[in-house]
Amino acid sequence: MMGFTPALQGKTALVTGSTSGIGLGIVEALAACGANVILNGFGDTAPAFTALARSGARVGFHGADLSKPEAILDLFAYADSEFSGIDVLVNNAGIQHVAMVDEFPPDRWDAILALNLTAVFHTTRLALPHMKARNWGRIINIASVHGQVASVGKAAYVAAKHGVLGLTKVTALETARLGVTCNAICPGWVLTPLVQEQVEARASRDQLDETDARDALLAEKQPSGDFVTTEQLGAAVMFLCSDAASQMRGSAWTIDGGWTSQ
Ligand code: NAD
Repeated sequence: MMGFTPALQGKTALVTGSTSGIGLGIVEALAACGANVILNGFGDTAPAFTALARSGARVGFHGADLSKPEAILDLFAYADSEFSGIDVLVNNAGIQHVAMVDEFPPDRWDAILALNLTAVFHTTRLALPHMKARNWGRIINIASVHGQVASVGKAAYVAAKHGVLGLTKVTALETARLGVTCNAICPGWVLTPLVQEQVEARASRDQLDETDARDALLAEKQPSGDFVTTEQLGAAVMFLCSDAASQMRGSAWTIDGGWTSQ
């Protein structure tokens, strides 16, 4: 019987933005499947190293600022020299800024597009030659429900995430005859530092305590009334790495508590 849990021993996974939030949940799932993992992101790396210590995985770290293409080159040079290439690429790093289009600061637009979309192009183009040579690879783009629908105030984020879904489809078509797949996951609300900022902004705007602000955020968009968890997203990534998912190509898998069914 075909299993949903991949055997990733001997393979190396790079998860961008894995020092916190969703990326950390994903890197833990991949390490549990036997992969060597490369962490990336800003801030304190100790929680990620602690969480991964239990897995016995070989763990690397590169703090590339992915909004800078030359830093992405450095990251891949590190992956080649220390880990002999990347077999599983999870493009997860992302940022947000909320403002109406006519008030949107151009520098925030540029920063969001550089990280949330252009970096995905660079990591993908640099990962593909190794994956093609081995005829095996997984590229998993953490997009968003905002790759499929819009929300007020999120022009740059929505534009970038729609772009990620387009890039996912092109990459999937260009690798369709190979053992390399490219898919996107589109989460709804997940309670991470990125969303916590929006909870706090809402609490102060509407004079709510934090619990009520969280409930209000969910009530507006996510019919289940619950957050998606980082563990659930880690499990989805595991599935996409398995043989059972080898014919999933170019898909945008929504895990959104019903958000986009409305
Ligand atoms: P987060 O803020 O908790 O984590 C973001 C990670 O990206 C951190 O590790 C951070 O250090 C890293 N990062 C930020 N700027 C970087 C840069 N320039 N270079 C390298 N790393 C950088 O956010 P999160 O909520 O875990 O989001 C992760 C991904 O999931 C993002 O792409 C986001 O758009 C997407 N997403 C999040 C939600 C949600 O509700 N949290 C929903 C849908 C999609």
